[in-house]
Amino acid sequence: MFNLYRLLLATGRVPVVARTVYNHSIKPIRAFSASSYNLSSPPIDENGLYYGKFTKEEYENAAKYIKLQIENLETEIKGEVNVRDNVGKMPQFPLRDSGASEVKNLSDLFTQTIKTTGPIPLSAYMRQCLTHPEFGYYTTRNPLDRNEGDFITSPEISSVFGEMIGIWLLTVWQQQGKPSSIRVVEFGPGKGTLVHDVLKSFNKLAKSAVSIEINLIEASHVLRKEQWKLLCDQPLETTPEGFNVSTTRWGNSIKWLDTEKDIAHDGSVANYILAHEFFDALPVKGFKKTEHGWRELVVEHTPSVVNTQSTLPEPEQAGAQKVDDELLDTQFHLTVSPKETPSSIIPKLSPRYKDLEVGAQIEICTEAELYIMKMAQLINNEKKLGGVLVIDYGVVGQIPEMTLRGIYKHKFVSPFIKPGEVDLSIDVDFDNLVDLSSKCCAPFGPVNQGDWLHNLGIGYRVDQLLKKNSENYEEQEKIYNAYQRLTGTDEKSMGSIYKFLCLMPHGSETPVGFGGSA
Ligand code: SAH
Repeated sequence: MFNLYRLLLATGRVPVVARTVYNHSIKPIRAFSASSYNLSSPPIDENGLYYGKFTKEEYENAAKYIKLQIENLETEIKGEVNVRDNVGKMPQFPLRDSGASEVKNLSDLFTQTIKTTGPIPLSAYMRQCLTHPEFGYYTTRNPLDRNEGDFITSPEISSVFGEMIGIWLLTVWQQQGKPSSIRVVEFGPGKGTLVHDVLKSFNKLAKSAVSIEINLIEASHVLRKEQWKLLCDQPLETTPEGFNVSTTRWGNSIKWLDTEKDIAHDGSVANYILAHEFFDALPVKGFKKTEHGWRELVVEHTPSVVNTQSTLPEPEQAGAQKVDDELLDTQFHLTVSPKETPSSIIPKLSPRYKDLEVGAQIEICTEAELYIMKMAQLINNEKKLGGVLVIDYGVVGQIPEMTLRGIYKHKFVSPFIKPGEVDLSIDVDFDNLVDLSSKCCAPFGPVNQGDWLHNLGIGYRVDQLLKKNSENYEEQEKIYNAYQRLTGTDEKSMGSIYKFLCLMPHGSETPVGFGGSA
């Protein structure tokens, strides 16, 4: 059978199919069908053997096998399969073939893939590093673990952070006439601390019957488990459709989803959506403007080459320190694709990049565009219900240049060392999120985290906590330090580095924290 397959390859029949598969124009691929390749009338030579070499039975067995392969490929190509549907479920690179050496980690996977296909797009490298089901960074660990984690986030610094967001949610819900059925959706909930603190303060303050359903969009099963432990007091179950579900300790139904596409549209529910440090964890595409036009940045395998990427960004993220030299020794590095790739068209399509000079290097986060559009769609403009809070670090009023960095044990490192063990992060392109969503809803902000928290009353809350602990200096110091870290404007604090962006239904009142009053 294998010989015949090789023979078919040699006769030029199968390569036509394979090339069609890798052809990048969409229509021919969708229209492609196994039945258009006639495997049933092969040439039979004078000796009675098919192709002069194979018995009828040998040939038919092989033909059956090839048809099956083609059908499988067709199902994958036909469109229902979007790589993001499979986040956390299946490897998105070709499966290892029997001739390839064993893949024990992402370095092996990238080395073999690059050897076979050539350099891979930066976004493909990042996607695998972050959420490859066996070796991805988020899918294999709890990065927020107090002892072994790589970074810390605002909700983990103090529960006051989540309390303030709970108060924000309460005021928006009240302004919208206290809808009786709401859904709190969080993208990338980490350990679940933020939604825990938000629900706790909302439930305490709401004081009227409201049915709350929780949707968590989470790629990592390790983190889903953490979220369930913190939020639920009922078993974690799986529905026949494959969704993890449970009930929170406040009696709310809770559901885990793989992507934004799994969120059900339900006009009778008000969706309140949170995304804290989610957008900075999405893969970006990189592009360089050359004399011949935009060229995509791709990842190349060069074990012996010293890291040649431009200097790493300054440690902007709070608490991170400068890079260690030994961590610069990478197996992979970025290079500019000499020719156009299917993605080269992306920067060309936007007037935003038109006037950049030759030599400019930019990042475009195409996935962020899909997520923000879905968030905007979930807001009900007709009934003026729902709202979105995006909280992250990023750039405002400028185009993100190459901001990709690795974060490893609280330090900045090259994004090309230890693939899958290092967190990868980018600056969020807030202008792009605002531009895209403003067609479907009303954006407010972004405003600095420190200002937002003060507006919501963090000062009063911290004062109250300090007074409550007037006898306990150690506790007071902890409370004050956390407050400083969350609101301070120095480079080790998060007050001006992190921003709050809000999306509301068209015609909504300005929400509190963005200039509105409670
Ligand atoms: N919001 C949390 C955690 C931030 S870390 C906090 O601030 O503490 C990023 C989170 O997004 C993790 O929970 C990670 O598993 C999740 N994540 C990353 N990429 C994802 C993707 N493509 N789909 C769903 N979740 C993702």
